[in-house]
Amino acid sequence: MNVNVGDKLLGYATDPGIRNRGASGGLVTAVLAAALERELVEDVIVLKHINEYEAVPIITDDVDEVLASTGSMHTVPVNLAKHATGKKVAMPGKPCDVRGVIEQAKRNEIDIENTYIIGLNCGGTMHPVLTKEMLINMYELDPEDVVGEKIDKGKLFFKTQDGEEKGISIDDLEEAGYGRRESCRYCDVKIPVNADIACGNWGVVGELAGKATFCEVMNEKGVRLLENAIESGYIQVEQAGEKEIAIREKVNSAMLGLVDKWTEKIFTDIPLQERMKYYMEQFADCIDCGACKEACPACTCKEESKCTMYHNLADDYKMSMYHMVRLLHLSDSCVGCGQCSDVCPVDIPVTTIFRRFADPAQKKHNYKAGMTLERPPFLEVMLK
Ligand SMILES: Cc1cc2nc3c(=O)[nH]c(=O)nc-3n(C[C@H](O)[C@H](O)[C@H](O)COP(=O)(O)OP(=O)(O)OC[C@H]3O[C@@H](n4cnc5c(N)ncnc54)[C@H](O)[C@@H]3O)c2cc1C
Repeated sequence: MNVNVGDKLLGYATDPGIRNRGASGGLVTAVLAAALERELVEDVIVLKHINEYEAVPIITDDVDEVLASTGSMHTVPVNLAKHATGKKVAMPGKPCDVRGVIEQAKRNEIDIENTYIIGLNCGGTMHPVLTKEMLINMYELDPEDVVGEKIDKGKLFFKTQDGEEKGISIDDLEEAGYGRRESCRYCDVKIPVNADIACGNWGVVGELAGKATFCEVMNEKGVRLLENAIESGYIQVEQAGEKEIAIREKVNSAMLGLVDKWTEKIFTDIPLQERMKYYMEQFADCIDCGACKEACPACTCKEESKCTMYHNLADDYKMSMYHMVRLLHLSDSCVGCGQCSDVCPVDIPVTTIFRRFADPAQKKHNYKAGMTLERPPFLEVMLK
């Protein structure tokens, strides 16, 4: 079967083992394995599972490690962009991972022509520690008994070793302070149209529900990835019907409606006369550890950079100059992935503060960081 840019396909791994273990049909794992086996790439980046709540990114040329990485880990909010290498590599990625890769490519840290990205639709990820707390408080389950989770019709279900399955509405969990990370609630890229292919379970209905992935082909690299996997017998695909396409669109629109609700709730207006006080208070606890810079997939500055010039434990600035510089510096590249908040040891809501600056600046320039390579960052200065 020929694959073309723009195709909307339903597909799955032909191997029953991969298909059953996969989050929805194992297409992603099979495409990655085929890319490695037939030398389309030299390495693959996947998550190595440690337990239900933990996994680490690995860069591997071992097909078995790729096959062992199946499944969607909703409690692993790590951003994979920083793990992309200069080699020919294939990787899965949530929309924010892909946005990070594109920002790195704009700054010549990644060779995008040799980086194959299999995008995963993403409704959001959860913090692992809060998830365990939520299991105890809301689900009355022992986190150690949990063997799997799934999202179905707006509810988050957990399954235990003895087959018990409990689901609670995501709205209720989030109202109680659990559920998705804050940045995921207001993230408005749910389908990774910035990747080479965009894969997810939205739109897969009927007999194929849970056993296939809806896959949109975004560019020629996506065509190569899929044709390679089809030719090697790793996957089987068919064209999606109008019904599937419409359902995927409808769910995406509903999710974007929720984004509007959360955006309004989280980004309340801070009156002009209180703004300075607000930011000073937010950053007052900063211990200058630099973890936010280290974790940021959009920042490609090395140790010696403008912000670190002001990174001094002995400084007596009334307001963290380190953050002031970063706020400006990242206003054209922040992708809102939430990594900086995740790693902050003193729980400053760094991402949300940064979005307060980056979002209006990017909107003003009709620019959305990490979506396309075609437009350079608007604060970029060309030195002649
Ligand atoms: C956090 C998360 C949220 C998702 N939310 C939605 C959604 O709301 N709607 C929707 O249609 N689809 C969503 N998906 C995509 C969907 O769950 C499947 O991943 C997709 O349909 C492909 O299924 P598969 O069986 O082909 O994948 P598999 O063959 O199981 O391969 C999954 C791949 O994803 C990688 N992976 C797993 N967890 C993560 C993670 N946290 N970050 C980065 N990579 C990861 C694994 O390493 C593996 O390579 C989500 C996926 C993730 C990871």
